[in-house]
Amino acid sequence: MDKKIPQIGDMPPEEFRQYGYQVVDWITDYLKNIENYPVLSQVEPGEIKSKIPVEPPQKGEGFDVMFSDLNDIIMPGITHWNHPGFMAYFNSNSSAPGILAEFISAAMNVNGMLWKTSPAATELEEVTLNWFRKMLDFPEDLWGIIYDTASVSTMHAIAAAREYAQFSFREKGMSGRSDTPKLRLYCTAHAHSSVEKGALAMGIGMNGIRKIPVDDQFRMIPEALDLAIEEDRSNGWYPFCVVATIGTTSSTSVDPVDSIGAICTRENIWFHVDAAYGGMAAVLPEMRYHFKGIEKADSIVVNPHKWMFTPIDLSVFFSRKPEILKRAFSLVAEYLKTGEGSSVQNYMDYGIQLGRRFRSLKLWFIIRYFGVEGIRNRIKEHLNIAQWLKDEISRDQRFEIMAPVPFSVVCFRYHPTGKSENDLDDLNEKLMNKVNATGKLFISHTKLNNKLVLRLAISGLRTEKQHVKKAWNLIRETVELDL
Ligand SMILES: *Cc1c(COP(=O)(O)O)cnc(C)c1O
Repeated sequence: MDKKIPQIGDMPPEEFRQYGYQVVDWITDYLKNIENYPVLSQVEPGEIKSKIPVEPPQKGEGFDVMFSDLNDIIMPGITHWNHPGFMAYFNSNSSAPGILAEFISAAMNVNGMLWKTSPAATELEEVTLNWFRKMLDFPEDLWGIIYDTASVSTMHAIAAAREYAQFSFREKGMSGRSDTPKLRLYCTAHAHSSVEKGALAMGIGMNGIRKIPVDDQFRMIPEALDLAIEEDRSNGWYPFCVVATIGTTSSTSVDPVDSIGAICTRENIWFHVDAAYGGMAAVLPEMRYHFKGIEKADSIVVNPHKWMFTPIDLSVFFSRKPEILKRAFSLVAEYLKTGEGSSVQNYMDYGIQLGRRFRSLKLWFIIRYFGVEGIRNRIKEHLNIAQWLKDEISRDQRFEIMAPVPFSVVCFRYHPTGKSENDLDDLNEKLMNKVNATGKLFISHTKLNNKLVLRLAISGLRTEKQHVKKAWNLIRETVELDL
């Protein structure tokens, strides 16, 4: 029976305790039995909405009925990112210590906009980001901040790059002026769409984005960047930002950061490195060759919510020029002025948002629970499984590997003899939809050189070799029996 809902104030403490335990039991069973759920939700569009009243309840309903609706209405519409068979996109998944940190963070409900509004939130963010920087062996002069997503981190990088260009955009803005050149940003066609979105948000415009050609492994060609910058300068453009990617979203290719960084240093252009997914590989010393030249980056983004088992959202932004970012955004209203001066930092000065969740608690719990070694082991295991799968696929004449496998994503396709490229695209799409419809596996696709390619990402905390073996068996069985 539902308890009587109080007319004022919060849920009574003992009721919270009871439901709190119930929620923890629910989470425990959910994660324990995660493999019993179909990884990709099988509902039709509108199905969930149709089961929920259009009108809000006038009287409180109590937790019991909400809880049963959670199971009956919401769960069927969940795609299970924590499922070991979730191998689509970049698998972002949560760990138990991360979940517990979210729980506590919601309870404290800290807004870490100023040091004063919760000193621990600011100082823990500083400490954990310094830990994180050391784990990745990134340069000592990097300052860090947590944003919600890599998209927002990159937008802030572009804002800093624009401020760095020194045309008094902060005071005079960008429009209606004849005294400023047009700004140009450089990336490749393989850069994440968030780079273009960030540029759009910063008033750069699509015309201000120039895509630099890539080599046969989808990596930016530094010589082509060099030429483009030279050509643009002679045509009156102002090159202001270059974005390189370590681990592109389509194929996880790695742009040559060292050579690109050298060009940016020489040309005095802001250099941003998007390592949203690939960045975590730097915890392994043997993978650090991908990050050669990272000290030349003015800013870097790495997402613990992608490959470090952190409940979404938590994106880490590093910069060696935080004063530029601050110049772009700092605006302290009278009611936000505090007396600590420069002995503390107020994170609200470094971005668009005022209110800030206590996200660093998640980093603190996760890094301490698993330890650096534990995190390394898990990343290493994913890399090893990916190499195993790549070898398996290479050995099967009916399939082909479509891109190098520097990290834990394998791009491949089914390629029986005698089919046209169009047929192959259709066939692979059909294969993907069939395996995804089984509810046992969820993979996604991309286009490389205009060919439809299947992408299998191994980065889930619960994904073991046996799951990837099963996935590979399922793909082969589907090809043999059902295509
Ligand atoms: C996933 C991804 C992003 C976007 O990440 P969000 O945190 O979802 O905004 C950006 N860049 C790369 C390379 C990515 O893989």
